[in-house]
Amino acid sequence: MIAMVDCNSFYASCEQVFRPDLWGKPVVVLSNNDGCIIAANTEAKALTHIAMFEPVFKIKDVLIKNKVIFFSSNYTLYGEMSQRVMNILGDFSPSVEVYSIDEAFVDVLGVTENLDAYGTKIKERIFKYTGLPVGVGIAPTKVLAKLANKMAKKIPDTNHVFIIDTEEKRLQALRWAKTKDVWGLGRKHVQRLEKINVFSAYQFTQVPLQWVRKEMTVVGERLWRELRGESCIEFATMPKPKKAIGTAKSFGIKLPDLERIEEACAYYISEVAEVLRAQNSCATYVQVFVMTNYHSNVDKQYSNSKTVTMPIPTNDTFALIKEARKALHLIYKPGYRYKKVGVNLTGLIPQEYVQGNLFLPSKLNDKNLIRTFDMLNNKYGKSTVASAMTGTRMGEWELIKKERSKRYTTQWRELLKI
Ligand SMILES: [Mg+2]
Repeated sequence: MIAMVDCNSFYASCEQVFRPDLWGKPVVVLSNNDGCIIAANTEAKALTHIAMFEPVFKIKDVLIKNKVIFFSSNYTLYGEMSQRVMNILGDFSPSVEVYSIDEAFVDVLGVTENLDAYGTKIKERIFKYTGLPVGVGIAPTKVLAKLANKMAKKIPDTNHVFIIDTEEKRLQALRWAKTKDVWGLGRKHVQRLEKINVFSAYQFTQVPLQWVRKEMTVVGERLWRELRGESCIEFATMPKPKKAIGTAKSFGIKLPDLERIEEACAYYISEVAEVLRAQNSCATYVQVFVMTNYHSNVDKQYSNSKTVTMPIPTNDTFALIKEARKALHLIYKPGYRYKKVGVNLTGLIPQEYVQGNLFLPSKLNDKNLIRTFDMLNNKYGKSTVASAMTGTRMGEWELIKKERSKRYTTQWRELLKI
């Protein structure tokens, strides 16, 4: 059996854990630069008259009038709270597949006790240790576990735990779920099914397999089988290394001069290079792009990108910054107010497969440098040591995060005071 554990309104819940005064109140979390709402708790979602997906500046007054509390996103806090939840799950089973920041599949195959009690125990322990509410669904396959989890959340008398352990409950779940509730059934497939009058998950499982195979390929077939109780989506406890790593953020203000953009670019390269080293890969290509603000009707518009090939695939921050800088110089044009710079590292290969270049000396010393660099930053905190290219004027291009909460769990200076 597989358990799917999913935190309720994760970002908003993380904020509320440290602010008991906000329990029961509508809370939303905003995207980078406070552009739009990316998460809302149940109380906020209940305010259906507010167009939650509008840009924040358009609805700010309505939010304030309705006493909605808003936070800038605090990914340091969310990431660390997520880690806590995953660690607790690790106490329950040796196989935990972290599926996203706030959900995980847990293999509960060996559990002999009553599964309802077991699911409740998971839920209660996470709440006791972290203050985060979760829903737990347990079923024989991943797709059914996802569905059970949805039912645990949506059906009030489940108490946030739903188990599909009998044929009767499987059918109950399938009849309850619409096709769009099935994990992995995309909009196109849902529409295709509607054309043949299939609206519920149950109806989907009654469609002949030949039709599913022909119209929905192997993806559809897998879902069809999983819903019928036949497990065919593997458990992946090791995250797959990423194939490309990138980051692009809007500046807090629009920047005209190359120097500041270079600093931001170097900073982003440092961030992604760290991720690269953490997964033991090297990048073959570096892409840099710049753009102005397309929503502005007073500024001249321009955007461009450039990809360069590394002489030897690398994860060395300094080597990558050097090439990224060259690329940036090629695409930067003066006279524009830039809103965003972004970097992408692609052509990722495992570190041990990197081939040297006959015409270039191998630089063993650099490896020691970067190892020391990582060690210092791990020990003393992010950006303790950095490439000088990242500059010291971060405040000028850094994201606007007006309403960010404290980093309660990772900064001594920001500990919760009682
Ligand atoms: Mg969730």
